[in-house]
Amino acid sequence: MSNFSYKDIYIEDGKRVLEMNILPEKYCNFDCIFCPIGRSHNKIDTQQTFSDISESLNELEHKLMNNEVDLVFINSKGEALVNDKIENVINLVKSKGLAVRLLSNGYILGRVEYMKIANKCDEVIGEIKVITDKDFQKIQRPIDGYSFHEHISSMISFNKQYKGKFILEITILKGYNDSEEAVSKLRNIIDELSPDKIIIERMDDDRFKEKLGISDEKFHAISKALLNK
Ligand code: SF4
Repeated sequence: MSNFSYKDIYIEDGKRVLEMNILPEKYCNFDCIFCPIGRSHNKIDTQQTFSDISESLNELEHKLMNNEVDLVFINSKGEALVNDKIENVINLVKSKGLAVRLLSNGYILGRVEYMKIANKCDEVIGEIKVITDKDFQKIQRPIDGYSFHEHISSMISFNKQYKGKFILEITILKGYNDSEEAVSKLRNIIDELSPDKIIIERMDDDRFKEKLGISDEKFHAISKALLNK
């Protein structure tokens, strides 16, 4: 039985994208209060062996060969880098001459062992959802000992040596990073990180929209300020 799950192929900027999850259940180093996947019962940041994945890799190869895929987007139930077979997945996709995009919350990208793996990807996404350590601990509930400073410095270290396209995804949350002061701090982080692309998001999950969502007006004003438009 395959250990991976897939979304239907979709088109993005004219490319056929295969989005896949490589974790059997949620494994993340954070436990965000708004996580769409639910609570983190397995808060980890070390690699795990989940099971023999030869069948899963065969299925992936089959999908790649039969669907004219241009880009594989690894977007898993948590932090995909903790699957010790992630390199096999990336190597398989690259061996077919296709591009790989990896979504990570960014915290462990600066660790040498994970840096090496992420470096094999054509695109890597890192995320920011708060602007202070207090809020990081409160709403992202990471592994003990983690800090907001380390989160940002890890992404900075990664991007300093990364040759691919680093995409920074910033989610604006009401009361956490939507003030003028917070936006100015976010701008400083952007300057230090110098991502190749910035995506500004806001909470659009109906379960959390009332508490954490911001108005269209505010969203557009903050987007404009952060994207320097
Ligand atoms: S980092 Fe992402 S996957 Fe992990 S707990 Fe937070 S929202 Fe969920």
